Amino acid sequence: MKNVVSTEAGTPQPRDLATRIEAVLTAVEDATHSVGRKPDEVTIVAVSKTVDRSAIDAAFALGLRHFGENRVQEASRKLVEPLPAGSVLHLIGQLQTNKAKAAIALFDMIESVDRPSLIDALEKEAERRGEQVPVLLQVNVAREPQKAGCSPESASDLMGRLVRSPWLLPRGLMTMAPLIADPEEVRPVFSGLRALRDTLQREQPAVDLGTLSMGMTDDFRVAIEEGATSVRIGRAIFGHFPQTHPA
Ligand SMILES: *Cc1c(COP(=O)(O)O)cnc(C)c1O
Repeated sequence: MKNVVSTEAGTPQPRDLATRIEAVLTAVEDATHSVGRKPDEVTIVAVSKTVDRSAIDAAFALGLRHFGENRVQEASRKLVEPLPAGSVLHLIGQLQTNKAKAAIALFDMIESVDRPSLIDALEKEAERRGEQVPVLLQVNVAREPQKAGCSPESASDLMGRLVRSPWLLPRGLMTMAPLIADPEEVRPVFSGLRALRDTLQREQPAVDLGTLSMGMTDDFRVAIEEGATSVRIGRAIFGHFPQTHPA
């Protein structure tokens, strides 16, 4: 991105924020139209992990409602004061089982469910609270060794567990594509996630697995062309900021 004129880390200038959000909305609109879809089929999750609270409030004031954070503790600190009513907070980063309790207390949707032990921990905590929790199954479609997400082979089994759980509400799938220069190269990752979702949906006709969370700043257009219903966008909205922690 060349148009980032923010000065202080974590604090984008409001005017730049408005310009960037406008550009993202236009890009989402163009991508949906290019494949005969409608812009309102795609939810924009503003990934606020690198910015401070004032930037989230500014983005809310500019109309964004979905926010994504990747670390439970950091998000708890940032959101001591809850987000305004109408906002939806997504956990998009890897979740340790010992943080399941804090995650459920803070987040509206957990996108990074990827293993049996985590399903058990989340289920136990949801039951304790008497609250059903919407979740996505994260799949490592690209089979990157260091990446979170279950293998495509284990997705069917894990989805079966989620569907059987009275406390977890599976809504679909999430993936993170490899970071490579040409977004065209990751198209098969996105079409692969959609194909996997279609298979799981046939296996589980009783639940609606309509959500496909895929696509980030560099590849959301391609993801939308391949059926994304949710794009997780950080840098294109908030600008480039040094990560306080590795992603
Ligand atoms: C940081 C992050 C994003 C957003 O990435 P950008 O390239 O800044 O848009 C999306 N998804 C996950 C899981 C992330 O950790």
